[in-house]
Amino acid sequence: MKISYYQYQLDPVVELNAVTNQKPRRGILIQVEWPGAVIGYADLHPWPEFGDGPLDEQLSDLRKGKISFQLEQSIWLAKRDALARKADVSLWELAPRLKNNFLITDVSKATDDVLDRAKQGGFSTIKMKAGRDFDQDMEFATKVLKSANFMLRIDFNCLAQWQYYEKYMSSLEKSLRARIDYVEDPFPYEFEIYKEARAFSRVAVDRDFSKINFDERNAPPVDQLILKPAHQDVDKFMVQAKKWMIPVTVTSYMDHPVGMVHAALVAADLKKKHDTLIGTIGCMHHHLYHKDIFQTAMTIAGPYIQRVGGKGIGFDFFFHQITWSQVRMS
Ligand code: MG
Repeated sequence: MKISYYQYQLDPVVELNAVTNQKPRRGILIQVEWPGAVIGYADLHPWPEFGDGPLDEQLSDLRKGKISFQLEQSIWLAKRDALARKADVSLWELAPRLKNNFLITDVSKATDDVLDRAKQGGFSTIKMKAGRDFDQDMEFATKVLKSANFMLRIDFNCLAQWQYYEKYMSSLEKSLRARIDYVEDPFPYEFEIYKEARAFSRVAVDRDFSKINFDERNAPPVDQLILKPAHQDVDKFMVQAKKWMIPVTVTSYMDHPVGMVHAALVAADLKKKHDTLIGTIGCMHHHLYHKDIFQTAMTIAGPYIQRVGGKGIGFDFFFHQITWSQVRMS
C-alpha cells in the first residue's frame, strides 16, 4: 500500500462550535494505491480540540509505519472509492438521495430570514450547535420550534453540565420540546445521567459511542446514534445500531468536500441496507468554509447533495490536478 497526500487549508466563514476559534483549519487529502493499480481517495481532517491526534503527529507517525485510528478510517473510505474506480463506476449511480439537516454552528450569526430560507430550500430539520449563550439559544430554539416547520437537533458537544441542561430543557415548553428530534452529546456519556436527560427529550450520542456498554443493557441505552464514517468503524457501529434498533444519523466531520461526499455516500449505502434506521443525514457543511476548488464541482440542491461527476466518489479532474507527495516510510 502506497500513500500520498496533499495538504489543504479550510477557512471558516463562521465560528464552528463553542470551543474552536475561526482560524484556518488544516487537513490532508490522501491517495492510496493498492497492488494492481487500485487507487482511491479520501480526506483526513483532525480535530485535536476533540481528541484527534494533530495532523503533523499523524503524518510523522505514518512515516514510521504507525497508522492512527482516524487514518485507518480514511483508508477504509479510500478503499471504497478505489474499488468503485477499479470497476469503472460512480458510487453515486445507485445512491438514494438523502435529505440533510440545515446546520447552524453559531446562532448569534443566524440572520432573521434563515428559517424562511431553510424552508424554501426544502429543509425539514435544523441542527444547532448550542451552549455559547443561553438566552440567544433559547430565543433561536423557540423560534425554530414555534415555526412548526422543522424538527430541531441541538448539539452540545459534551459541554453542558447537568444543571445547565436541566434549566435549558425546562425553559422550553413541553409542547415545543416534542418537536426536538434529539439533543446530541449534552455531556460526556454516563448511563445514569443520560437516563435522566432522556426524560426531557430524545438524546443522541456522538463522540462517546465507545463508552456505551451495550452488553450490560436490556433496553437501548440511547435514543439516537451519530455515525461519522470519518471517525468510526462503520460495520462495528451498525452491528449495535441494528441489534438495538437505534436510529442513526450519518454525519460528516466538518471537513473537506471530499470528506463530506464520502460521508454522504456511506449514508446512501447504509440507507439501502438498513432503510428504517437511517433518517435525515448531516453531511452538508460546505457553507461553513470559504469556497474550496473542490466545492465548485459539487451541486447542492436544497437539502440534497447532487451527484459529483467522475468515477468512485467523483472529483477525478481535481485529483489528477493536485501535486501529491508520497509518504516515505522509514
Ligand atoms: Mg456532534
